[in-house]
Amino acid sequence: MQKLKLAIQKKGRLSDDSINLINECGISFPKSSGKLVTAAYDFPMEILFLRDDDIPDYVQDGVADIGIVGENVLVESGKNVDVVSQIGFGKCRLSLAVPRNITYNNLKELEGKAIATSYPKILQSYLEQHQVQADIHVISGSVEIAPSIGLADAICDIVSTGSTLLSNGLKEVETIFQSQAVLIKNQQLSAEKNEILNQLVFRMEAVRRAQKNKYILLNAPNASLEKIISLLPGINSPTVQALAKEGWSSVHSVITEKDFWEKIQQLKDAGAEGILVMPIEKLIY
Ligand code: ATP
Ligand code: ZN
Repeated sequence: MQKLKLAIQKKGRLSDDSINLINECGISFPKSSGKLVTAAYDFPMEILFLRDDDIPDYVQDGVADIGIVGENVLVESGKNVDVVSQIGFGKCRLSLAVPRNITYNNLKELEGKAIATSYPKILQSYLEQHQVQADIHVISGSVEIAPSIGLADAICDIVSTGSTLLSNGLKEVETIFQSQAVLIKNQQLSAEKNEILNQLVFRMEAVRRAQKNKYILLNAPNASLEKIISLLPGINSPTVQALAKEGWSSVHSVITEKDFWEKIQQLKDAGAEGILVMPIEKLIY
């Protein structure tokens, strides 16, 4: 039987989340022993540990069948692979930043200026789109120090909290790209490998859905049931069971994380008591 070869980042910001996701899909493999490739025990899959920048290339060439990589790295690589899905972690943005003491009103002010970045393609296409011409200096690491050493007037780099910018005397002025980790695949996967991929994607979706939803149990006086049920759409509709206590019911449902606290308040206001919220391990529709 063929094995699906999955490339993940060896060591870095996407490594732990990638490994956790695979494990939560019920797929286990030996703890990293510094090896480049390892086989899963319980799923027809091999895992390749690579530098993130190499992943699009390896997937395009079929050295790996699928991979987990940041959209920033994927788009910058310009490789031809298919995106299967966004997987929700590794969220960050690519932004332009200038020294804090400079007044900045709009992108036009970067006309003719030097911008240091490790993302020349994404930056170039953003500048073209906004009809600004600048001098792009490609540097591979520590982009944020470029203005203070006189190498550039501005930088374009990955930002998550902004603390690196702050400590280098920079301020973020434009967001040019929003990124998260994506699952990518080779464009010529065999039917057999596609079948394994479908099983993997099915499991990943169940895990992601579970992470976004919570199981909720509450007690409600029967007079409030109608109102409470209207607040809880559930997957189909909530389960309602009579309590031993006369005139009361127990309601079970699933709610999303998105408007979680708002929902809880509305339920309390509607008369719900003894609200119990629990994590869901897998959720399959
Ligand atoms: P490698 O050694 O594999 O080349 P790297 O140093 O290029 O690693 P990391 O810093 O580990 O890369 O970041 C990997 C990816 O994680 C980035 O390309 C981006 O998609 C995402 N990322 C970067 N910064 C953050 C952040 N602060 N929070 C979440 N995700 C981030
Ligand atoms: Zn890298």
